[in-house]
Amino acid sequence: MSANPHHRNELIAQLIWQSELGADEAIHDQPSYTLPDLKLADILSTAPDIGGAEPPNPSTNTSSVSAPNALDQPAAVGGPAPSPAEPDLLTPSKATIGSEGVGAAVAGDAELTARLAAINSLTDLREALGQFDRCALKNTASNLVFSDGNPGARVMLIGEAPGRDEDRVGLPFVGTSGQLLDKMLASIGLDRTSVYIANLLPWRPPGNRTPTAEETTMLLPWLRRHIQLANPDYLMILGGSSSKALLGEKDGILKLRGKWRDVDYGDGINRPTICSLHPAFLLRSPAQKRLSFQDLLALAAKLQR
Ligand code: URA
Repeated sequence: MSANPHHRNELIAQLIWQSELGADEAIHDQPSYTLPDLKLADILSTAPDIGGAEPPNPSTNTSSVSAPNALDQPAAVGGPAPSPAEPDLLTPSKATIGSEGVGAAVAGDAELTARLAAINSLTDLREALGQFDRCALKNTASNLVFSDGNPGARVMLIGEAPGRDEDRVGLPFVGTSGQLLDKMLASIGLDRTSVYIANLLPWRPPGNRTPTAEETTMLLPWLRRHIQLANPDYLMILGGSSSKALLGEKDGILKLRGKWRDVDYGDGINRPTICSLHPAFLLRSPAQKRLSFQDLLALAAKLQR
């Protein structure tokens, strides 16, 4: 054990995190990430039950999804329950809209489509988003929260929306959810140098209110272009609202999670994508960390290839 107390505390925090995941027994002297030797299917089926409702069985099936085009597909928003510092993306009734609402937000927005298609770097995308004045969320936010991490990483994580801390700092996942996210990543040997992180919404909804469907729909084309330009090998979408909006699905996150899908984010490339539980949800429902760990292992297994 290191004499460095900071390091020591981090190690203790990691042990607690792993124990909450159900890893309550040390099998080797050293941690091992040699996942090809580790039979993922076995792990998933024998993971200790640490309580909570029995989840839908994770599937290793891969299905193919064309991400909904904002011009013809409404986005349904739902997700983890709100916490004081983080946006309420849970309440579906306010944010689930009919096609007229979507149409009002983006119909005839060929100009935006053409503008986005002409942007060829993340730097230019960030700049253009900073100048985009049609979304009311920008007026009340302190900062644009564009991304964090390594833009060249093989993995891109998509969260939901900045909370108070992220709005202040201008970076995603720097508050309590972000601290948990860092531990989740560390559990499979990743950190912010090995992932790229963005959100469904780049501005904090005022008072963490539920974003309107128009706001979500208006910003989805920006996120799709963001994904296209970052061009990750794998995506993990965190939380129900971002999963539903990006995939055009209506099911809740407990149904959507844990399954690889090939998703076309609008450029004809199918990118393997897995949905998982949002750290804010895990903070309120720690028993579900077990499911989250299954998804993280599924991601780690892909990265071993
Ligand atoms: N929750 C998110 O989804 N994103 C953030 O950046 C912070 C909290």
